[in-house]
Amino acid sequence: RTVYLNGDYLPETEARVSIFDRGFLMADGVYEVTSVLDGKLIDFDGHAVRLERSLRELDMDSPVTRDELLAIHRELVARNGITDGMIYLQITRGAPDDRDFVFPDPETTPPTIVLFTQNKPGLADNPAARVGIKVIGIEDQRWGRRDIKTVQLLYPSLGKMMAKKAGADDAWMIEDGMVTEGTSNNAYIVKGGKIITRALSNDILHGITRAAVLRFAREAQMEVEERSFSIDEARAADEAFITSASTFVMPVVELDGQPVGNGQPGPVAARLREIYLDESRKAAI
Ligand code: PLP
Repeated sequence: RTVYLNGDYLPETEARVSIFDRGFLMADGVYEVTSVLDGKLIDFDGHAVRLERSLRELDMDSPVTRDELLAIHRELVARNGITDGMIYLQITRGAPDDRDFVFPDPETTPPTIVLFTQNKPGLADNPAARVGIKVIGIEDQRWGRRDIKTVQLLYPSLGKMMAKKAGADDAWMIEDGMVTEGTSNNAYIVKGGKIITRALSNDILHGITRAAVLRFAREAQMEVEERSFSIDEARAADEAFITSASTFVMPVVELDGQPVGNGQPGPVAARLREIYLDESRKAAI
């Protein structure tokens, strides 16, 4: 693979970052994942806007403009011959001379920016979408600023391992009895035709796919309710599903070993997936 590091396109084996990089030592950094379908970027602007917000919230400056970022994404797609896949982008607060909790001066310690591609042929035809995924409920033990897309992914990673051990595919995290979100996706239920998903706050990541899916749902006259729901309510729902940049809309057919609805992917999730893929392919750049 050809990757991007601080202004250079390099073979992945030649891309090197300091051991003092604050991303490595302190998880002091943010990231984005943008999907590529048919060689085009899905919702690039949405990801760029969220990246700028994440950086602002952590008092970091972007080392590149939005136009430069777009050019780098496209260059990596071209150099790596990506038709379907993802582009991972990470910006950390750089590598000072030594380890210190205090932020380094950005004048002398510029941020570190890394991008690489992940080739996923047939990404939109993921067979999991036809059978649905299994989810377990776990306690949400993350920090309080989940709206910032930081590289602190240890708890989500532990959550995925808990799911794996339980024979499931993913975990929905629960706080005060209410589902916050999946380990790397937003969580939804459907009851009586109504799409229910937690409202935006610092408790969840403001999913770019979530924003698009809710917009398409409303445009298609589907009913949307942004409010918290409990895992018990989810168990009694007609359908459940998740959204993320890499899974698009993915049905959830099992919660803690119990079928959701009839245990099959539901019609609302299937319709939303179709609309989302159609519309975002059309708008891809
Ligand atoms: N929630 C969490 C915790 C995530 O990590 C992600 C994506 O990585 C999402 C939600 C979905 O966000 P998006 O649709 O922008 O990929």
